[in-house]
Amino acid sequence: MNTSHEPVPHVVVVGGGISGLTTAWHLARAGTTPVKVTVLESADRLGGKIDTIRIAGVPVDTGPDAFLSRAPALGTLIDDLGLRSLVVNPTASGAHVYSRGKLRALPPGAAFGVPERLLPLLRSGLLSPLGLARAGLDLVLPARVIPADPSVADLTATRFGKQCFERLIAPLLGGVHAGDARTLSANATVPEIAALARANRSLYLGLRAKRRTAARSVTPAGPRTRTGIPVSPLVTIDGGLTGLVTALVDALESRVSVRTGATVATIAPDGQRWRLTLTDGHVVHADAIVLAVPAYVAATLLTALSPVASETLERIGYADVASVTLAFPAGAMDLLAGTGYLLPASEHTLLVGVTWTSQKWAHAAGDSIIVRCLVGRAGDSRWRELGDDALVSAVVDELAHQHGRPVGAPCEAVVTRWVGGMPQYNVGHHDKLETLTDELAALPGLHLTGAAYRGVGLAGCVADAATTATAVLAGLHTPLSVKAGASG
Ligand SMILES: Cc1cc2nc3c(=O)[nH]c(=O)nc-3n(C[C@H](O)[C@H](O)[C@H](O)COP(=O)(O)OP(=O)(O)OC[C@H]3O[C@@H](n4cnc5c(N)ncnc54)[C@H](O)[C@@H]3O)c2cc1C
Repeated sequence: MNTSHEPVPHVVVVGGGISGLTTAWHLARAGTTPVKVTVLESADRLGGKIDTIRIAGVPVDTGPDAFLSRAPALGTLIDDLGLRSLVVNPTASGAHVYSRGKLRALPPGAAFGVPERLLPLLRSGLLSPLGLARAGLDLVLPARVIPADPSVADLTATRFGKQCFERLIAPLLGGVHAGDARTLSANATVPEIAALARANRSLYLGLRAKRRTAARSVTPAGPRTRTGIPVSPLVTIDGGLTGLVTALVDALESRVSVRTGATVATIAPDGQRWRLTLTDGHVVHADAIVLAVPAYVAATLLTALSPVASETLERIGYADVASVTLAFPAGAMDLLAGTGYLLPASEHTLLVGVTWTSQKWAHAAGDSIIVRCLVGRAGDSRWRELGDDALVSAVVDELAHQHGRPVGAPCEAVVTRWVGGMPQYNVGHHDKLETLTDELAALPGLHLTGAAYRGVGLAGCVADAATTATAVLAGLHTPLSVKAGASG
């Protein structure tokens, strides 16, 4: 309770995706520093990329459909929201890669595509004998000098060869980041692998040693589902991830003012406070602002305040992606065991990843086969030239080809377009973050959080939101002294 007569500081969070909502949740719970919190979201719904639709009578996530079960900050949020009993494992395991005309089982023990075991890789048939032999050379090659900020390709193709890189490593990273492993920064996207590569002559041996230590160390019992079964590495919320958003919004109610249909157009200093102007002309004053929007939106909002920050934000690239969710009558397709498959860029398909959703999640299992198809990746936005019907038809053709038989027409189809949907942590990403930190130091009370910075997935977003809320509270009493000329 605020017993002094000082006005309660007002924090405005711009963006009502998981990052903005989680930041608001932490701010509202901070008992020691009471703050008034407002969330402004431009869309008419909350959740941002989290979007559970109904198709053929079952819930299906068109954006993220799973999260890392061992992510501490997300685990704490799940517990605080009372959602632990709704965390569910996939009902299938294993995935495939479509390569050279065939779906091939992804070998187990491939951390981010980097092989940890050569035998399963041999059995998978993903690599030719020559490609496998080249991958094995990592064991005997001398140590290489690793650049300060290598791309994933710099780090892995040099150790395991072009074939292993193109057929295994690139598609797996493509699936997670919709990115190009030749430009993605290893330090920013796979920091654990980058650290191992620096510490070991052979990356393969380094990974094996790490796995052995992890297996030997006495880890406390991992999280469990409500049935007591150990939780898989990737899990979801029963009924879809909108359940997480709904629980967050319910928890915010009465503590936080949440407005949808509220697009922030400009921010500017106004005396000792910040002034936010909405596109409908409304003005809101704040003592601190958290921009939980994509980097290109933050770039626009900061143009006048910090041209350097704005230009740096603009340089954080994004891939355009879309999900095409299809419902087929039972029997229309023969699905292999597993959750779906990934497609390397070298296949030149529109499809980047396919999830056999009705086989992956119990809540999506009904009378129909539900397939969620992801199209688009860094450098490939061909799908944007197609209208919805043409896109569905192109995807259905590719599915038939990859499943080796005609699949017929879907009984329902939903296209969800995420233009500028996937931030790319390219080489130089950490330098950009440093520049942003320096620039924001001159703008007290302004904070950036979200998928563009320190973690592209839900786990990273939730962790960064918690850190951001702490920084907001710590900085609330720093006087606002924005350089002259930045009054946009
Ligand atoms: C197809 C797809 C699949 C994915 N799969 C997974 C997965 O399985 N697991 C995983 O962990 N992650 C996955 N991700 C990544 C994950 O979904 C995102 O990283 C995360 O949801 C981003 O949350 P955010 O709050 O940072 O941003 P967003 O969700 O983009 O939220 C930003 C919000 O800001 C709002 N906004 C924008 N401009 C303004 C403005 N001027 N004023 C007010 N509001 C504004 C937007 O409307 C939006 O609601 C996936 C992403 C996509 C696109």
